[in-house]
Amino acid sequence: MLPSNRSPLMRSKRFHAPVRVVRSLDAMQSLALAWKHEGQRVGFVPTMGYLHRGHISLVERARRWAGPAGKVVVSIYVNPTQFAQNEDLGKYPRDFPRDLDLCAAAGADVVFAPRDGAMYSGGQPEVHSTWVIEDTLSAGLEGRSRPTHFRGVTTVVAKLFNLVLPDVAVFGAKDFQQAAVIQRMAANLNFPVRIIVAPTVREPDGVAMSSRNKYLTPAQRDQAIVLSRLLIEARKRVRASTTGLDPIRLREALRPVAAVYPLARIDYLEFFDPRTLEEADLVRRGTRMAVAAFLGDTRLIDNGPL
Ligand code: AMP
Repeated sequence: MLPSNRSPLMRSKRFHAPVRVVRSLDAMQSLALAWKHEGQRVGFVPTMGYLHRGHISLVERARRWAGPAGKVVVSIYVNPTQFAQNEDLGKYPRDFPRDLDLCAAAGADVVFAPRDGAMYSGGQPEVHSTWVIEDTLSAGLEGRSRPTHFRGVTTVVAKLFNLVLPDVAVFGAKDFQQAAVIQRMAANLNFPVRIIVAPTVREPDGVAMSSRNKYLTPAQRDQAIVLSRLLIEARKRVRASTTGLDPIRLREALRPVAAVYPLARIDYLEFFDPRTLEEADLVRRGTRMAVAAFLGDTRLIDNGPL
């Protein structure tokens, strides 16, 4: 007998346990409530799909945390509300069959992939009028360049938490500000979930893995190393200093590094306190740096501790 349309069992071609695909919001919430009733531990990894090793490291982390008996849910949903009008929502890369295979191999139990539109008032976004807004950690860095981005992120993650009811949710340090904003939201709104932040996974040349790397031409991909090179150079200078560095001077000192990569246009480069995300007056060990750069129309971000 075929499983129901709402939650078909998809078997991957390789040898690993099947992943259950859940499309409907009600079905996901019912499943999560049943797990709660059984006392199951639930680990959760929210994604926008087009998965790479960075995402998979988060799924593996959730699997380890949940143990063999617990449940691991990966959501795949390209959330329209976190994209501005001029951004890449329409062309965001997708490969659902491959994503399923990768999730199965990494030990996920369920892939929750709500249909386009279903998340926001049954496909009528104009009927959706409730937003979750974190207004402090969201203000700088990405929030300054993308003013409506974080309210889309916090709103969708709050909805996903209510649908999946996770005990633990794993986010990537690649999006450090996002993880901080989600942690703050979960604490402020008393979501009974622990947020784990897992390290950034990089390509061998240092470029942080990102679904958006797919947009890059070969020449742009070569020059995408500018972000990690800037981080490495800043770290080197900070480690060599005993007194700490003036942020304006350090930014100046990094200019020649950026100049080696003329295809890249730096959007921002900032030094901040990792707890408050406030700009640092003095850059020293423990200060974090975030950088965003355009390569053509593609906007990439990276960050790391100095
Ligand atoms: P996205 O699909 O881009 O929304 O990302 C989903 C999750 O994967 C977020 O928590 C990201 O921070 C995380 N992530 C994306 N790229 C990486 C990476 N290179 N290393 C670790 N985590 C990542």
